[in-house]
Amino acid sequence: MFKVDQIRKDFPILSRQVNGKPLVYFDNAATSQTPQQVIDVIVDYYSNYNANIHRGVHALSQEATDVYEQARHKIQAHFNAKHAHEIIFTSGTTHGINLVANGFSSILKKGDEIIVSALEHHSNIVPWQMLCKRTGATLKVIPMNQAGELEMDVFNELLNQNTKLVFVNHISNALGTINSIEYIIEKAHSVGAAVLVDGAQSCPHIKPDVQDLDVDFYVASAHKMCGPTGVGMLYGKEEWLNKLPPYQGGGEMIAEVTFEKTTYAALPHKFEAGTPNICGGIAFGAAIDYMNAIGFDTIATYEHELLEYATEKLSSIDGLKIYGTSKHKTSVISFNLEGIHPYDVGTILDKLGIAVRTGHHCAQPIMDYFKIPGTVRASFAFYNTKVEIDALVEGVIKAKMMLS
Ligand code: PMP
Repeated sequence: MFKVDQIRKDFPILSRQVNGKPLVYFDNAATSQTPQQVIDVIVDYYSNYNANIHRGVHALSQEATDVYEQARHKIQAHFNAKHAHEIIFTSGTTHGINLVANGFSSILKKGDEIIVSALEHHSNIVPWQMLCKRTGATLKVIPMNQAGELEMDVFNELLNQNTKLVFVNHISNALGTINSIEYIIEKAHSVGAAVLVDGAQSCPHIKPDVQDLDVDFYVASAHKMCGPTGVGMLYGKEEWLNKLPPYQGGGEMIAEVTFEKTTYAALPHKFEAGTPNICGGIAFGAAIDYMNAIGFDTIATYEHELLEYATEKLSSIDGLKIYGTSKHKTSVISFNLEGIHPYDVGTILDKLGIAVRTGHHCAQPIMDYFKIPGTVRASFAFYNTKVEIDALVEGVIKAKMMLS
């Protein structure tokens, strides 16, 4: 039996008040909250072994290096990567995507084609547009339907021998749709295209197995999975990472430097120029330990219960429309009240201590598709409760009364 009351005690922030009301935190898709177990690891690092890594002979440096590299191994094990050097520490999903997009600048040429999906976050659109501009490659888009699902028939039509890359998120941040990435990967590989999966929204809910998926690149952010901000990971198949040139130049990423010529370090250091977010990487490892101790199956089952409960309750409000109605979705509900701007609803909910996100959620093409300026997005995590959902429903009803 999942004991949510016990879990909530791990998160100090959940016992605070906002505007005189108990905080109801439903902005988990933007960033998750941090358990004491991870906060303790951060405090321990700065209290006891803060030092620069990889290049010091002294004890603190070696200790910090060991713990940082252990975190890389934890991430490797979590994602089931074949090698630890296939895990590159980044500052987050956006950094990982840009690293890969930059690398393909020297591989793509005019006439090559890139496919993205209509469900993408801006961070999985803009870097590819920039890449197309640099290389002369063309960007094509898998369209979506009213339920917020990708149209796979069109994807199949878009694929051809010129397709070199396919980029898709595992789960949409704006609608919660779980995309059929297994199918997309298989089809893309059948024409020789590489696939990057944006896992920013899946990793808080699902434990992806990169070898089983046979995915070429997979990116994630620690702050969406109980870890700190400013750190994330890029998984890349060894052969791809060896093929791509370094993203940034600097210390740590070199083998030898003279003014005539520089040779690069082996993986993963080739892609990790400069002093990394050492504490962040270590805390990312601790966050993964924390989530695994609860168990991703347990998390998924409980969150699904919250999703069904909230969907039923919110749907019963007259004039409330939910965007993204796929059967395959995670605990995200994007909605609007007829004739009322989402920002106004969000402002009233905030007064009641309820944190939701309003706006286009960095996914303007989705909003354009539905011809709306944005939505109110409530996104649930395993530490949320049905009582909190009741508070949200009451708040939405109140907002409707006040604003219509
Ligand atoms: N992709 C998706 C699907 C996201 O939800 C987000 C964060 N909202 C990102 C990419 C970007 O993540 P970050 O800001 O951590 O780089």
